[in-house]
Amino acid sequence: MVKFPTSPVNCGFAGRVPGYIPGMTTHRFLANQLWLDFVNTEPVMDGVRVDLLPGSADVVGWLGEAGALGADEVRRALTRAAGRPAGEAMLREAHRLRGRLRAGAERLAAGRSPGRALVDAVNRVLASRPAVSRLVARGDRYVRVMEPVRPSALHLLVPIAESAAWLLEHGDPALVRRCGGPDCVLFFYDISKNHSRRWCSMDACGGRAKAGAYYRRLHPPAG
Ligand SMILES: [Zn+2]
Repeated sequence: MVKFPTSPVNCGFAGRVPGYIPGMTTHRFLANQLWLDFVNTEPVMDGVRVDLLPGSADVVGWLGEAGALGADEVRRALTRAAGRPAGEAMLREAHRLRGRLRAGAERLAAGRSPGRALVDAVNRVLASRPAVSRLVARGDRYVRVMEPVRPSALHLLVPIAESAAWLLEHGDPALVRRCGGPDCVLFFYDISKNHSRRWCSMDACGGRAKAGAYYRRLHPPAG
């Protein structure tokens, strides 16, 4: 039984603002890069690819959990998207972006260039700005947030595109890795000290590999 990821509690919503609770974590973030964590929202569980973000509310909730949106922004985005064409358009764009990012991550993990499709997809989202900055209260402090001049289906996805752009501009694409688990499709950016990370997490594929090695030591093949 695949342990990763945790149960998708806030999936789907039927014509109402869903029960997304700020601060409640239902997803795992283990990739060290927002865009790879986004790709990882489509894991294979028990041999079947599962979409952990099947609705626009799920995408908004995920962005909130990732820290890419503040609680107020999450609430506003949920209200704006709930049951409306804008939400459906955003969901289509999110899934399209995720597909392109996955293809790019696979190329990078195989030692190839990111490919034109990834760069075009990132540029398409980045072009959804311009934005203006606005001062808003957050707790007992004020922070400046960027808000689009004209909200579009793409603007919520800008932090994800920014993350991919950062990696290609400043990061080391050779450190994009795919988990070594035989059935695992999760990616991560390997920032371990010796760049020796092999697993999505030790409580999933790493733990299974360790248990397998232990079993093989106890039960060496005959002959
Ligand atoms: Zn794994």
